[in-house]
Formats: sequence, structure tokens, C-alpha cells
Amino acid sequence: MTAVVIDGKAFAARVRGQVAAHVARLREEHGLQPGLAVVLVGEDPASQVYVRNKGTQTAEAGMASFEHRLPADTSEADLLALIARLNASPAVHGILVQLPLPKHLDSDLVINSIDPAKDVDGFHISNVGLLGTGQKSMVPCTPLGCLMMLRDHHGSIAGMNAVVVGRSNIVGKPMAQLLLGDSCTVTIAHSRTRDLAAVCRGADILVAAVGRPEMIPGDWVKPGATVVDVGINRVERDGKMRLVGDVDYAGCAAVAGAITPVPGGVGPMTIACLLANTLTACCRAKGLPEPEGLTA
Ligand code: NDP
Repeated sequence: MTAVVIDGKAFAARVRGQVAAHVARLREEHGLQPGLAVVLVGEDPASQVYVRNKGTQTAEAGMASFEHRLPADTSEADLLALIARLNASPAVHGILVQLPLPKHLDSDLVINSIDPAKDVDGFHISNVGLLGTGQKSMVPCTPLGCLMMLRDHHGSIAGMNAVVVGRSNIVGKPMAQLLLGDSCTVTIAHSRTRDLAAVCRGADILVAAVGRPEMIPGDWVKPGATVVDVGINRVERDGKMRLVGDVDYAGCAAVAGAITPVPGGVGPMTIACLLANTLTACCRAKGLPEPEGLTA
């Protein structure tokens, strides 16, 4: 079997288009403009690129983009004071603090100081609890993007066996909660899982979120399964730096029914879902109907 390639780049462009159309309607009908504030502390080069991309795509969707770049030695008190101002600002509907933060700052404290209604990353403890109990919440962007692609590809995923490899708070655990919310039978695997190969072979949907280049070979994949590769790993091949996922793409694509590539799969969906979450947060704040198909 040769897998259908799930084109995350094209799908993300469609999501951004839907967001932009909804934003335009909000402006015309209600004189509203959703706003996203991104806070970057320090000079991490990868984070700088992410923040720049987020700013550009936010503006392209017709939303207001507020960037706050703070020096690496910013005190916790100053950062918390900025977040308090953003929480109080009526022009800001979404707040994202770019992680990782410098080591002297307590990430949990900082994230939990964001108003949960503006927590478009979905990392605030209230949103984690709401998601875990099946209530309306802000949902972390990367797992939301994976869920949207799965729903788009399959229609319903109810009753399918889903295996999530990885149990981080930002990808693995919320991914598992979302799959459970769509009535999959969910297994979460991790570094202590026994016979990971056998666990993966039971999956109709296999989500890899490990951070180990090409760790999952084709013979761990059930024929016809859908493979969602969240991994982004930089490796050197033939003297050049390349991006690869957590699955062996060629080996898995030969067995799977559908697969997301790296790059061009889950990655572009993450920022698209950040825009969708900002729009959702704005609609909720104003008591307006939420955009259809852009929430969990
Ligand atoms: P973490 O390092 O936080 O978590 C990795 C998870 O993988 C852990 O739960 C760990 O298990 C598990 N793991 C590690 N080694 C093994 C192994 N040999 N067998 C089984 N499980 C293992 O990573 P993240 O969740 O933050 O990210 C995962 C990947 O996704 C990374 O490549 C990251 O770059 C990428 N990513 C991509 C995004 C995107 O936009 N596409 C966004 C966020 C992340 P244990 O808990 O037991 O240690």
C-alpha cells in the first residue's frame, strides 16, 4: 500500500482562509478586531523565527498583532506585570508566552498568570482541567491541528484504536484527551512502555510525538493505519541539515493508509490553530457564535 499524503500546508492555508473570512465579518458586522499578543523573553534564535512567523500570519489574517520582546534578564515581577496589563487590555484576546523561558523564570507561574480565557496556547492549568473533564476550553494548538487533520481525512474517528507515543503536557497528553473526546480507544505510550512495536501495531491512528528522529519504522505500523508525525528533528544528511519527523517516512508510507509528512504536515497547522484559537477567544469574550470547524 502507498499512503495518501495528508497535506498540512494546504490544509493550514485553508484554515487561515476561514479565519481571515470570519475576522473580516467580525469587523464589518461588529466593528471588532481580534488581537494576539506574543511575549518573547531572550534571544533564542528558533523562538525569534517562530515569533516573527506568528506576527506575520496574525496580520495576514486581519488580526491585530502585538509583539513584546524582553531582554533575557527580565525579572519575573516585570514579566508578570506585563501579563497583567495584557490580561486587562480590551484589544488583546489572545496571549502567548513563547517557551522555553530563561531558566530563572518559573514557566508554570508565568503561564498560570495568563487569563485562562486569553490562554490561546491552552497551557493554563484551568484549560488543562477543562479539557480533561470534556468541557469547553482553549485547546493546545499542535494537538488541535492533528485532530482537525484526522477529522478532515476520516470524517468520524469514533471507535478507532489510537496510540499516542509521547506524554508531554504540550502534545502527548492533550492529544490523547482530544482523541478520547472524539471517542477513540486511546493508549498513551512513553519511554517506559513495554513492547512499543506491538502497541503501535494495534493502532488505527498512530501519533508520534517523541522528538527522536525516524524512531518508528514501517513494520511497527498496521497496514492501512493513519500516521500523524508531530516530530521536528534537525539531522545532518549528505552534508546538509534536514528536517525529519519521529517516523521513518518512506518505510511507514509504504504500509500506512495515510501519513503526514515532515516538513509540511503538522507543523503549519500549529500556527493556523493559534489564529483559530485567537478568533475563538475573541468570539467567546464578546458572546458571539464561535467559528465552525475551528474548535475541538
Ligand atoms: P518531550 O521531550 O516533552 O516529550 C517526549 C515524549 O516522548 C516523552 O513523553 C517521552 O517519554 C517520550 N519518549 C522519549 N523517548 C522515547 C522512546 N524511546 N520510546 C517511547 N517514548 C519515548 O517532547 P514534546 O512533546 O515537546 O515534542 C515531541 C516532538 O514534537 C519533538 O520532536 C518536537 O520538536 C515536536 N513538536 C512539534 C510541534 C509542531 O508544531 N509540529 C510542536 C511541539 C512539538 P517519557 O515521558 O517517559 O520521558
